Amino acid sequence: MPLRKRIVFYLLAFLISTVFSPAAAAAAAPAALLKIADPGPALSRSIAAAGAVLVQELNSCLLVYAPLPALPRLRAQGVTFTVIAYPRDNVSFFLLYSEHDAPLLSRKGAIQCRLLEDRIWLCWTTAADFRKNLAPPFSLKALSLSPAPTPAAFAAVPDKESYQVALQAGPLLAGLAAQVAVERLRADILALQNFKTRFASTPQCEAAGDFILGRFRQIGLAAASDPFTFESRYQSKNILAVIPGQVAPEWMVLACAHYDSTSNNPLVSAPGADDNASGTAAVLEMARILANERFNFSIGLLCVSAEEWGLYGSAHYADQALRNGDKIIAVVNLDMIAYPGDRQRVLDVIGNRQSEWLADLFIAVAQPLVELRLAKVINSSLSWSDHSSFWDRGYAALCGIENSVNPYYHRSSDMLDTLDLGFAAEAVQASLAVVAALAQPISTPAAPTGLRARSQVSASLFSRLKTVYLEWQANREPVTGYHVFRSDKSHGPYLRLSEQPIVATVFRDSLLPPGQNYYYVLTAVDEQGRESNYSAEVRDDENNR
Ligand SMILES: [Zn+2]
Repeated sequence: MPLRKRIVFYLLAFLISTVFSPAAAAAAAPAALLKIADPGPALSRSIAAAGAVLVQELNSCLLVYAPLPALPRLRAQGVTFTVIAYPRDNVSFFLLYSEHDAPLLSRKGAIQCRLLEDRIWLCWTTAADFRKNLAPPFSLKALSLSPAPTPAAFAAVPDKESYQVALQAGPLLAGLAAQVAVERLRADILALQNFKTRFASTPQCEAAGDFILGRFRQIGLAAASDPFTFESRYQSKNILAVIPGQVAPEWMVLACAHYDSTSNNPLVSAPGADDNASGTAAVLEMARILANERFNFSIGLLCVSAEEWGLYGSAHYADQALRNGDKIIAVVNLDMIAYPGDRQRVLDVIGNRQSEWLADLFIAVAQPLVELRLAKVINSSLSWSDHSSFWDRGYAALCGIENSVNPYYHRSSDMLDTLDLGFAAEAVQASLAVVAALAQPISTPAAPTGLRARSQVSASLFSRLKTVYLEWQANREPVTGYHVFRSDKSHGPYLRLSEQPIVATVFRDSLLPPGQNYYYVLTAVDEQGRESNYSAEVRDDENNR
């Protein structure tokens, strides 16, 4: 841009900011908050190259924070945008999710809101008590205008061969899922509800955090609380317990839920049974069951706070994880899993585009184990819970959440007696199986390795038939043999082909219709009749040359 045009541009920007910004009296802001509609795939690179910060990804647009000199650089790269605001130091930005057409109770409050997408508003304010002016119920996400910390040493996921092992619902995963106890969920939800409120900043919320810490320690896990400050004046804490991995403990699978609550009267009564004692009880139940098993990778069991204030606890955790270079394989967040509604029994599995593989894996592993329907939802605008703090920092994360609208949501009536714990137990079974699968359970005997397949189609005058040849490595420990399983879908469900364990380490599967692919896994059986977890899956023609 020529100098004269640039001067005119800055002058205009200054004038606009002075006239339209939330605190017009203050000095001109050095940066702008932009909305970029219709984001293309290469856009994030242009944003970074221009020296701007991606603040929030939504389905239809991006929110970007840009120092004023970045605006012409963005334009030069062909990026079109509209300026929403010129933020100042003391202005806080929030995403607001509200069912109301007019989310503000009065227009006089020191808060401004602009509709971005269906039911999703951008709000900005300088007032600490702005929540009083929002029509309940609502959900908030505090937006950070500073760039995410640079990761110290965050590498790719573990190598594919080792990572693939046990991603299917083998006998071991089914056995773990079967241990989920409705009565344990009930006891923990009731205990959390009995704190009356778990609104972050209250002593009752802190006591609930101590209760969770005590429960982890009672289970026998190493656990710690991690205090943090939010909105410059309030304190709360996250609670983390870890089941250390046996082979590569630096890699971690996280199960997470927020334990704080809110309501229309949050300082007095916010029982938060569904939102989110249900998810917290799920994490505690996973801890109880998984603590008895051994895994290749570590499992982190994370209960965060101040979610209802704007996802502060999970943002605090994820910031630290990124700074430390923590190797988080995936995050399974559970938020409201005990209100199935009248007819449908559906658990939504919400991911963004980068986490779609995780949602697919969740359904492939867990759907064979449960009757409730698991529904994949890929929508980056669904950022009202702690998974989105991990999305923002580049981690794979998803949220398991009931598909129905809970009429008691964010009300003092969100109580245990409105919940369906059978539904919740199935949601826990599904999540537990996925967390276990990702962490790779070590079975006795070990799952067979080195499975290879090739296929051959033979044609006669009347028919064409496929034969699949399998071979694998013998287990190191003594085993009586191997079972072979086949499916016409990747990740099963599988049909067992062997009646008795096969002693050899080869198998031939013949007379198959040739028009499709087949998928195989193995288990090993030891002298006590114990069966291993599934091996990695192979496709019939994987080793065809
Ligand atoms: Zn919640």
